[in-house]
Amino acid sequence: MPIRQGLIWGDWRSQLKHSITKLDELKQWVEVSEQEEQAIAASKGKYRWRITPYYASLMDKTDPTCPIRQQAVPQLEEFVPYPGASVDPVGDTHYRKTNRVVHKYPDRCIMLVTDDCAVYCRHCTRKYHTTDVGGTYFERSEALSWEADFDYIASHPEIRDVLLTGGDPLTYDDLRLEFIISRLREIPHVEIVRIGSRYPVLLPQRITDELCQMLEKYHPIWLNTHFNHPKEITPEAAAACDRLLRHGIPVQNQTVLLKGINDDTETMRALCTGLLKIRVRPYYLYHCDNVTGVSHFATSIEKGREIMNNLKGYTTGFAVPEYILTTELGKVPLHEQKVVQTAPSEYIVENYERKVLHWPPVEAEELAVPSPTA
Ligand code: SF4
Repeated sequence: MPIRQGLIWGDWRSQLKHSITKLDELKQWVEVSEQEEQAIAASKGKYRWRITPYYASLMDKTDPTCPIRQQAVPQLEEFVPYPGASVDPVGDTHYRKTNRVVHKYPDRCIMLVTDDCAVYCRHCTRKYHTTDVGGTYFERSEALSWEADFDYIASHPEIRDVLLTGGDPLTYDDLRLEFIISRLREIPHVEIVRIGSRYPVLLPQRITDELCQMLEKYHPIWLNTHFNHPKEITPEAAAACDRLLRHGIPVQNQTVLLKGINDDTETMRALCTGLLKIRVRPYYLYHCDNVTGVSHFATSIEKGREIMNNLKGYTTGFAVPEYILTTELGKVPLHEQKVVQTAPSEYIVENYERKVLHWPPVEAEELAVPSPTA
C-alpha cells in the first residue's frame, strides 16, 4: 500500500485530505490502463472524480474490471451518449420545492443537503448533481440559508419522514450535521430522520463514536447505506456498521444492479448474505437507471429478475432485497408476479421452485381424524 506522507489512516479528515484526484496519484495504487487514463483525461471539465485511500486500498492493482475500480475510476463509456438517457430520471427537479427539499411521496421528503461525496461513484443516479462539473440541482453555496427548507417541512404536517441525502450528508462535520438534524427534530410532525450515506463503504473511518453519540441524541435515526459488492464488506466497514447499530441506528442497504459488478447470482448472494453477517439488512436492489454517463452499467430487467428468482426461497428471506425501478412516478417493484387471481378469493400461486398450486386447494382432502387410543 503506498505510504502518503501525513496520511493518518484511521482519521477520516486526513483520508479526505489525501484523496486521490490526479492520475499520478492513482498510479501509486494501481496499474492504470490506457482506457482509464483516457477517461481521466476526458473527465477534466466534465465529471469530478475522487477516491479515498481506504477505498483505493480495496482495488485490484492489475485488473481494471475489478468491481471497486469500476465504481471509482472514470471510464470512457461515461462519455458515450445513450438513447433516452436523462440527467434526472427520478424527477428531482420536477418535485423540488426549495433549494434542498424534494417532495415526491405523500408522507416523506428528501433533503439534498450537499453535492459532495467521499468517492464520486461512477454509477451515481444523481451524477449530474454530484459529479458533473458544470451542473447541480441547487445553488452550490454552502452558506445559502436553510430557513426556506425547514419552513417548507414545518408547513407540511403530512411529512413524517425526512431523508437526508445528496451527495453524502456525512461529508459534513458533526457540528453541521447536528445543526440540520436538530432543526428537523424541532418540527413536531417529523417522526423519523433517515440518512443516506455511503461512508460505511467508502470511508468507514467517518463513523466515529462521537458521530454516533451525536446521532443517538436525535432518535429515531435510521441509516441507509450502499454496498454493491462483497469485496466492500471489510473488517473496517463491519466495525463502522457495528458502531451505528450499537448506538441504536438501524442500518439497511440499498444496492444498485450494475453490469460487470454484481449482475450475477453468486455475487449478489454473497453480498446479501455477507451483509446479514454484519447485521445490515439488504433492503432495496435498484435497477440501474438510464442516467447520462451511467447507462453502460445498466442490465436488463430480465437479468435482474433472474437473479431475484435465484435468491428468493433459496436463502434467508430477509437476505433478499426488494427489486425496484425508480421512475419519475415513484418506485415500482419489479418482482415477477407469483400470484394469479382466477376468481374472487381464488388464486394460483407459484413457489420458488416454480411449483404451482391453487389457493385455496380446489379439492381439499378431508383430514383423517385419528381415533382416540385407549
Ligand atoms: S456516495 Fe452516493 S451520492 Fe455520492 S456519488 Fe456515490 S452514489 Fe452518488
